[in-house]
Amino acid sequence: MRMAGRGQGSAGDLLELVRSGRAVTRGALQQVTGLSRATVGQRLDRLFRAGWLREGAGGPVDSPLGGRPSITLEFHDAHAVVLAADLDTRHARAAVLSLTGEILAEHSGTPLIEDGPDVVLGELGHWFAELLEKTGRRADEVCGIGLAVPGPVDIDTGRVVQPPIMPGWDGYDIRGRLARAFTEHTGAAPVPVLVDNDANLMAYGEQRTSYPGCSAFVLVKVSTGIGAGVVVHGSIYRGIDGGAGDIGHIRVGADALCRCGSRGCLAAVASGGAVARRLAETGVPAASGSDVRDLLAAGDPEAAALAREAGRQVGDVLATVVTLLNPGVLMIAGDLAGTPFLTGVRELLYQRALPRSTAHLDVVTSRLGERAGLVGAGALVVEHLYAPERVEERLAALGV
Ligand SMILES: [Zn+2]
Repeated sequence: MRMAGRGQGSAGDLLELVRSGRAVTRGALQQVTGLSRATVGQRLDRLFRAGWLREGAGGPVDSPLGGRPSITLEFHDAHAVVLAADLDTRHARAAVLSLTGEILAEHSGTPLIEDGPDVVLGELGHWFAELLEKTGRRADEVCGIGLAVPGPVDIDTGRVVQPPIMPGWDGYDIRGRLARAFTEHTGAAPVPVLVDNDANLMAYGEQRTSYPGCSAFVLVKVSTGIGAGVVVHGSIYRGIDGGAGDIGHIRVGADALCRCGSRGCLAAVASGGAVARRLAETGVPAASGSDVRDLLAAGDPEAAALAREAGRQVGDVLATVVTLLNPGVLMIAGDLAGTPFLTGVRELLYQRALPRSTAHLDVVTSRLGERAGLVGAGALVVEHLYAPERVEERLAALGV
């Protein structure tokens, strides 16, 4: 637990205990933090004045300290909203979400990532303004914006680093531009913007929603590119440079030219883009991962055979991933995620990985589907803004 070892009990720590459900009454908070009743009361009062906490609808529960039943406390998720967007190469999705991850309004469209960040992020600002109007929420209720992008992200700056499928975005100030676009289209003050890789955020959204008890969770997104997101003990594992999970450019020995400039990358032979190219060579009209998805949905046998073969190639790499991380859940998401691809993954995975690392492994497909990135991006913002170390500063800014 975050605060147990330090013996702290700041307002932020109390909020965290309530939000996580570990302590939801004044008595339980006293017991867990060792703080006096008066101190807990003072800190909770600030959270009440900020509108972040409220008394639960469930009524009183028995107190761990004995005596009278106590009122339960809960995170007041209606005091703000969060905006989220998920960019893919030819498609984008945006939403207004509640602080607990419920999608309140959603929009999708087809801005091309190759139109560059200025155009695409400006468009998102426009979408956000319209979505807020649809929900009836004011722009000054927005606490932050989360953005998922299909490339490697430097988490400290929110900039993408040499992204193979995002021409013109390398090193661009995404946070600054999106904050400005939000302000331009809504007239509200700028809000914090957080940017992360799409596979990371999809993994985060899926793990929190459907597998909260899974301490080692891996999601592989196979669309135009291939990437993996890893969530360990509830946190996104990014490695020291944000490079963790970038499995699309592992060399698998083939000769195909990859969009990163190298030859023989996994993404060059087994991504949605690669399958589309092979289909096009046989005369089937396909140019992208989403075209392959449509063909698979229509039961096209050639697309199914190629997807299964791609699944085998990805499964070979995943055998190493699974052996290294021993996850409880391996989720396959993206344009190719369907039965043929999954069959291919399973064939190679169970053949190549050690039995001990697959004995309790669930290989599954996405639960949230196309919304996973949005849910993850929203959660990233909320977890950042309401983290114990940030609460004090934000309460002070609110004057409580
Ligand atoms: Zn590559």
